[in-house]
Amino acid sequence: MSLINEHYLKLTKSYLFADVAKKVNAYKATHPKADVINLGIGDVTRPLCPAVVEAMQTAAAEMGTPEGFRGYGPEQGYAFLREAIVKNDYLPRGVHLDASEIFVNDGAKGDTGNIGELVRWDNSIGVTDPTYPVYIESNVMCGRAGTLDGGRWSNVTYLRCTEENNFTPRLPDHRVDLIYLCSPNNPTGTALTKDELRKWVAYAAKNDALIFYDAAYEAFIRDPSLPHSIYEIKGAKKVAVEFRSYSKTAGFTGVRCGYTVVPRELTASSMDGTKRYPLNEMWLRRLSTKSNGTSYISQRAAEATYTPEGKAQVKETIDRYLDNAATMKAALKRLGLKAYGGDNSPYLWVKIPGEAGSLKFFERMLYGAQVVCTPGAGFGPGGEGYVRLSSFAGKAACEEAMRRIGAWMAR
Ligand code: PLP
Repeated sequence: MSLINEHYLKLTKSYLFADVAKKVNAYKATHPKADVINLGIGDVTRPLCPAVVEAMQTAAAEMGTPEGFRGYGPEQGYAFLREAIVKNDYLPRGVHLDASEIFVNDGAKGDTGNIGELVRWDNSIGVTDPTYPVYIESNVMCGRAGTLDGGRWSNVTYLRCTEENNFTPRLPDHRVDLIYLCSPNNPTGTALTKDELRKWVAYAAKNDALIFYDAAYEAFIRDPSLPHSIYEIKGAKKVAVEFRSYSKTAGFTGVRCGYTVVPRELTASSMDGTKRYPLNEMWLRRLSTKSNGTSYISQRAAEATYTPEGKAQVKETIDRYLDNAATMKAALKRLGLKAYGGDNSPYLWVKIPGEAGSLKFFERMLYGAQVVCTPGAGFGPGGEGYVRLSSFAGKAACEEAMRRIGAWMAR
């Protein structure tokens, strides 16, 4: 008899974004003439930049010749990309990594969900709340999150990010083994300062904890004092894995490429505490068993983001999204709404006026203004009372959405 993994049954029925999409589709089907503006889903809209397109075309043409054809590549990623990452993403920030510490993937989502395979199922976890749902749901799937009780998982320590603490999670007053941090954070759009990050690295070192640091939105950081990588903090290589992605950086949500950094210094303990094991070796072992790598064309595309033209073009695209975010934030403030984030992130975290729950508010805004937002409740218990707006739509759409929200609120 085949027996299922019963932990899957604990997951709530549908993934938040699918749920929101279903409601939006139902609205569109019943209002075929409505022009709905989607500020909900965190997908980019601007096309790939010319440097990337050219690199993909060249790589595709190369693959079509006997000399240039490539089959399976190295599981960890081609050296040309790993070396470009070390040289461009880390060295200028004073971080010295070896290319063997970089693991190229087909986007960060898989690795943020799979990294937990390296550690025992009964480690305790601490997760910023609200948070990107993958961190918790991947832990539910292996039983590590415990059971759901009143909207909270029993083995998860929720690190609350609230208006009162400036959306900066406080250190837990007890020990947790695995900590998920995301900066700039999805969904709050706020980023951790070096001082805050130092506290987490010190906590992890003191408690022999691991930090899984998601920096998928680091390219949106414009404040020069903010860290782009956790490894800018001394000692972080001993305690942290970092995830990066070209998805939001360079519009690769459809191309698929990202990477994970597992430093050689990073170790975790055996059950009896007598031995330590390097996670870099374990992650490589996992990868060579479970993956045949990321496509050559995607990796050449990612490499092109590091050329002088690529860098300038990528920056221009992100600047446009940030410009949208600034316009939206100013408009929301004029409407008397409290909006956070958006300065170093494509996301605005908007406090709901009145008593409505975030799902109700999402539906009201959809029906009243034909604007889609993401209900905060989908990002964890700490997300209730807020909705997330993304700045990935075009400039005109963002401006029109603000106008409509204003008219709807005035009704
Ligand atoms: N991490 C965060 C915080 C995200 O918001 C996303 C995507 O929305 C990802 C990781 C995954 O991105 P991808 O798999 O496209 O690299």
